Amino acid sequence: MYKVACILALWFCMTPSEAQVAVDNMPLERLQRVAEFRSTAKSADAKLTAANAAYVVDTHRWKPGGTVNVAFLGGNVSLHKAIERVANEWTQYANIRFDFGYDPTKNAYRQWSRGDKTYAARIRISFDQPGHYSAVGTESVNPDPKLFPPNRESMNFSAFDVQYPNAMPDAWEAIVRHEFGHALGLWHEHQKPICTREIRWTDDGVHKTAYAYYSEILNWPPGYTDSNLRPPSSVDDVLGDGDKVNLDSILIYLLPPEILVNGEKSPCFTKKLPVVFSELDKQAVRRAYPSDPNEVLAEARAAKVPAMLASVARSDILSVPERITLSARIESRTIADRPNVYVQIPSEAVEATANELRQSLKVAGFIAPELETVGTQRSPRRLEVRYFASSSKDSADAIAAMLVRTSPGSGTPSVKQVRGYEGKVKRTMIEVWYPTNDAKRAKP
Ligand SMILES: [Zn+2]
Repeated sequence: MYKVACILALWFCMTPSEAQVAVDNMPLERLQRVAEFRSTAKSADAKLTAANAAYVVDTHRWKPGGTVNVAFLGGNVSLHKAIERVANEWTQYANIRFDFGYDPTKNAYRQWSRGDKTYAARIRISFDQPGHYSAVGTESVNPDPKLFPPNRESMNFSAFDVQYPNAMPDAWEAIVRHEFGHALGLWHEHQKPICTREIRWTDDGVHKTAYAYYSEILNWPPGYTDSNLRPPSSVDDVLGDGDKVNLDSILIYLLPPEILVNGEKSPCFTKKLPVVFSELDKQAVRRAYPSDPNEVLAEARAAKVPAMLASVARSDILSVPERITLSARIESRTIADRPNVYVQIPSEAVEATANELRQSLKVAGFIAPELETVGTQRSPRRLEVRYFASSSKDSADAIAAMLVRTSPGSGTPSVKQVRGYEGKVKRTMIEVWYPTNDAKRAKP
C-alpha cells in the first residue's frame, strides 16, 4: 500500500518538513493566474486610501456569524466525515460555521461537479488534482474563469480519496487544518513584515534566494513565491500581531535556513512542524470572526462599502488591469455576503415550483441547499420569506421579488424578520416557506 501511494503522490514519501512545504502547491496554470491576480490586487490596494484599502484586505473574510457551505467531488463518506471533523476544529474558536450538507437519509455529503454553472458551495473540495491547496477566503467565489468559477475546485487534497484510511500521510490532519485556515481567509504566519526582512530576495551570488529555492523544489514562478511569502497587502495585516512571529502557527512554513539572512538564528526559523493550532491561531480566527455584536455591526456597515469602491474602480488612479481585478474582488465579496437560503415545502406537490426557485437563487449567487419537506402541520398559511439578521433584509426583499416570478400561483409573499437573533447573528440565513393550502393547488 505504501508503495502504491508513493507512485500516486510523490510527496507522501517525503519527510514531514518536505511535506510541509508541499502545501499550497497548485497546478502551474492556476498558480500563475492566482499569483498575477494577487499581485495586481496588491498594487491596486497601495493606491487606495487607508479606509478603502483596509476594506479590500478584509474582503478575504466571510461575514462573521455566517455559514459557509462545503461540497465534495470524489472520495467516500468516511473521508468526507474525517475532513469535516478536522475543519470544524477551527469553528470552535470563531463565530462562523461550515455546513458540509450531510444528508442522513442518503448517508452522503453535498456534492459539486465539473459541469456546474452556479456555485454548489463556496468551498469546493476535490482530490484529483496534484498538490494540496486552497483559495484564501472569499477568493473561492471569484468567478474569473481562471481563478475559482463554479466548475473548479477551491481546495484540493491530492489523492486523499485513494489513500484513505490506511495510506494517509502522517501529517494529513495538519494539512487539512492549514488549508481550512486559508479557506477562512487567513494568510501565512511568515508573511508578517518581520519575516519579509529575514528572507533573501536578491541574489548575492553566494546564497540561494527564496525565488530560486521554491522554483527548484516546487516549480513556483516568482509571483507565486511572492504571494505565499510576502505580506498579502501593502496595508498592515489586519489580524496580525505586529512584529512577533508565532513559530507554532499551523499557518507557518518551515523556511530553510539558507534562504534566511540570519539562518538558523532567524526569528522566522523553526525545525518543528506544527500539527495543531497554537493559542495565537485561535486568537486570530476569533478576531476575524468576532462574537461581539458591536464588532459584527461594524462588519454590516462595511458591507455598504462596495458602492464606494465601485466608484474608486472607475477612477483614473488605477490602471486598467487593477480596475478589473478590483471589480472581480468586489463581485466575489458580493457573492460571499449573500445568505444561504433554505426552502421549506409542505409536501412534494410543490417540489417542481420550489426547485425552479432554487435555480434562480443559485444563478443570483445564493447558496440554496436541497429542499426540506416539513409537512403540512408546520407550514404557514401564506408564502413567507423569513430572515434573522437586519443586514439580510435587502436579500429577503430580492428573494420575495424572485418568488413572484417563479411561483405566480402562490400569492404575494410576506417578508418577516424572526426576532431574537439580532445581535447574536448566529445565522446568516433566509428561509422560504411555501404555504399549506398551496400544496393542493396544481402549478398553473
Ligand atoms: Zn499555506
